[in-house]
Amino acid sequence: MHPLNMHSTASKERLTSRRLMQESTWFRDRFGKDRQDLFVDLMDFSKKRIAPHLTALHRGEKPYSDMLKVIAEYRGFTVPEDFGGMGMKIVDSVMMREALAYGSPSVAVFFEGHELCQLCIMLGGNEVQMARYLPELAKEDGPIGCYALSDVNCGSDVANMTSMKFSMNGGIFMLDGEKNFITNGPIANLAVVFAVDPTGQRYRNITAFLVPSKIEGERNGFEHGKPMIKTGWVASPTSSVSFSDVKVLAEDVVGEVGQGFALAVTGLNYGRLKVAAGALGLMERALDETVAFVLGRMGVGGPLRERDVVISQIDEVVEAIEATRHALYDAAFYAEGPGGNGTKVPDFSIKATIAKNIADVNVERVAAICSRLHGGAGMDTEMPIAVLSADSRMYAAAEGPRTLLGMQLGKAALREQL
Ligand SMILES: Cc1cc2nc3c(=O)[nH]c(=O)nc-3n(C[C@H](O)[C@H](O)[C@H](O)COP(=O)(O)OP(=O)(O)OC[C@H]3O[C@@H](n4cnc5c(N)ncnc54)[C@H](O)[C@@H]3O)c2cc1C
Repeated sequence: MHPLNMHSTASKERLTSRRLMQESTWFRDRFGKDRQDLFVDLMDFSKKRIAPHLTALHRGEKPYSDMLKVIAEYRGFTVPEDFGGMGMKIVDSVMMREALAYGSPSVAVFFEGHELCQLCIMLGGNEVQMARYLPELAKEDGPIGCYALSDVNCGSDVANMTSMKFSMNGGIFMLDGEKNFITNGPIANLAVVFAVDPTGQRYRNITAFLVPSKIEGERNGFEHGKPMIKTGWVASPTSSVSFSDVKVLAEDVVGEVGQGFALAVTGLNYGRLKVAAGALGLMERALDETVAFVLGRMGVGGPLRERDVVISQIDEVVEAIEATRHALYDAAFYAEGPGGNGTKVPDFSIKATIAKNIADVNVERVAAICSRLHGGAGMDTEMPIAVLSADSRMYAAAEGPRTLLGMQLGKAALREQL
């Protein structure tokens, strides 16, 4: 262990971030007893089983596959109970992502691919597809899912994708092309792939397909790219995925032919909430690590904790966390619908975008402040804050870059549609 890591949060029971959460109106008044218990359980799980491995995962000293086993019990978290899952709702899954990211942002990202794959089946799939795929995807040792949307040529411009095409011949679809930056790409056994019919009309020419990486044990033209060596989320496997003359039957079209764009966009709205939740978990860990460090460290002329400039920077971090929490849980509760039972889903795209952008701006700022407050130790990847700092920059691109999402919000405001 790094000598300056002696005050790390791993051994502490009372944590600043936990007190902040538990004093929030979301926790106290909106969660209810079951959710309060679930949140505390998830945080305890993450703190004990994941958090101690944050730096070793980043440094490649602990294999990511070990963590996949640790989190396997959550693979069916949002899958309905009728299909073998735990039947958790959107607020629960936001809590889950926040808690896991507290332990390791990379580990939480697993669900960015796996849950989005499940979600597409739940949102767009028919009963047969749900019965066939969801129970398998919910199993601890079942297939790993990925969500293959981003185009090689311009990931932001979903409506104009070109790198992944499909054609139809005698009731069989042929997929050809490549997708970029796919979470779980190197390890996925099942992909939801969005492909374009180049002869079709814009917005109606995209279709989602369910594509396993093997059929009856044989490879079928679905190839996993070389794992990307990233600057952050280092322990989460990402790669391109390619499809060469892959045959897909009509029964593996998700929803209707030509409805893939709407499905992709709806999936991204859920994804944005969960990306924001990951950023919140990261910030909470950064706060706890920094409070622990500052409390134990001497500065010029006295303890760091007595310096006004240090105190005001900790205050900035706390405020950023609280602002993010409010935007995030506001959006998540809104998305669950007035009944809170997930049956009536309002359009939560604006709220999800606001939450994601607030989280994205704050996570980079918080990580930079916390890293600075650690001095030289903030640059050493044996210290949690150095890993969190590297991970904090990953939220900028995930589920849509900040600038483009901000433009959507600005345009909506000017059209008086907010
Ligand atoms: C670690 C990681 C995991 C990912 N996982 C997945 C996944 O599982 N599935 C998936 O489908 N995708 C995934 N992505 C892809 C991610 O969603 C994209 O990176 C993102 O949508 C942006 O696309 P791009 O990288 O191609 O950027 P580009 O589209 O090339 O954009 C580059 C920059 O230009 C800006 N820009 C573009 N157009 C404009 C404009 N008109 N005006 C102003 N600025 C503009 C963008 O904001 C961005 O900053 C992942 C990415 C990363 C890094």
